[in-house]
Amino acid sequence: MFDVNKIRKDFPILERKIWGDKQLIYLDNAATTQKPKIVIDAIVQYYETYNANIHRGVHKLAEEATAAYENVREKVKKYVSCDSNSEIVFTRNTTESINLLAYSLGESFSEGDEILLTEMEHHSNIVPWYLLRNRKKVNIKFAPITDQYELDYEKLEKLITKKTKVISITHKSNVLGTVNDIKKIAKLAKTNGSILIVDAAQSAPHMKIDFSDLGCDFLAFSSHKMCGPTGVGLLVGKKELFEKMSPFLGGGEMIRKVTFEDFTTNDVPWKFEAGTPNIADVIAFGVALDYIQKIGLDSIYKHEIELTQYALTKLRKFDFLKIYAPADVNKHAGIITFANPVVHPHDIATIVDQEGIAIRAGHHCAQPLMKKLGVSATSRASLYFYNTKDEIDVFIGALQKAFDYFELGACKELKEKVGERISK
Ligand code: PLP
Repeated sequence: MFDVNKIRKDFPILERKIWGDKQLIYLDNAATTQKPKIVIDAIVQYYETYNANIHRGVHKLAEEATAAYENVREKVKKYVSCDSNSEIVFTRNTTESINLLAYSLGESFSEGDEILLTEMEHHSNIVPWYLLRNRKKVNIKFAPITDQYELDYEKLEKLITKKTKVISITHKSNVLGTVNDIKKIAKLAKTNGSILIVDAAQSAPHMKIDFSDLGCDFLAFSSHKMCGPTGVGLLVGKKELFEKMSPFLGGGEMIRKVTFEDFTTNDVPWKFEAGTPNIADVIAFGVALDYIQKIGLDSIYKHEIELTQYALTKLRKFDFLKIYAPADVNKHAGIITFANPVVHPHDIATIVDQEGIAIRAGHHCAQPLMKKLGVSATSRASLYFYNTKDEIDVFIGALQKAFDYFELGACKELKEKVGERISK
């Protein structure tokens, strides 16, 4: 049984008071989530009882640490339903996973080859491709979004050509919350012979992911957005593709043999894990995965939809506010981005912070999308399974205070301006 009050007790930070006596209300989960005590304890336990480097030593501690680290691959395999542990590479974060792909896949690309992205990508799924473009002179295209804040699938399809080597797309937008239909795009990619990469940074923490069923070639996500520690990223990918790719970083662990002349590479996944990895945090990430699965992704998703619906009903009463999201709440559960043309989102975030509420304001590492939306910044409240309706009520009360301060409710002409915000 999903019991949010019981769940909240697992997170020490949720007890925290801000600015003296204000109860922390954490609504910045798309940036990073809070950690349950068992995850924090796993890090301490590793350092206190079996800290050792992995894959090298034959002593007991090294064996224990290696087994615990490698066991997390097994957990990830179950979490995303991929075929084997060889399909799972540990990186530092989603950003590094995508950089690895842009670099290593890109080694075989040539001038004129095309990379297809979308207008709703996070910088971490844009800049690595720009770096590749600077090296290899590939062309980068962006599939547009509609004025309903959804991907324009027809236009996306038209942008695919015989030169499209890679389609790299977010599963769930960190700004709009829009969940993209990966299966549909996977069919197009497969027919065309393009590699499909999915940025699952915002989806993997909130919904069931089935790597085989999605039909993509690679999936990237971050531990810290799903109750795990910072410093651990995941790159799940097809083994045969990993085997063909050149390594990203060179050094210890990723080699089979090194001579004075050259080197040969280790098997996947270790071929892509050069140097000593983030052992403690990978192990703690495994604990986070167990924890999330114990709560249940179906319950998590249901709770987040309910909360989002509740928050939207209240937010819509501020009719001078523009909400950037698809009309159907099921398509953007957990993420609510809003703005109005007069008050800067940073001012809103600062005022609600005075009430102990953490939301995000800014461009959300999606400057091209901001340009498309015709704004320089927005405010974003992002939810997770430990948030409650009571917290939403306090948040709405704090927003009311902020709007009263700026006398927004009184500005009639604003309502008209709000309708004009999306640039076509
Ligand atoms: N992709 C999306 C959709 C994100 O929301 C984020 C982070 O907010 C990232 C990628 C980058 O994640 P990280 O900073 O963990 O690399």
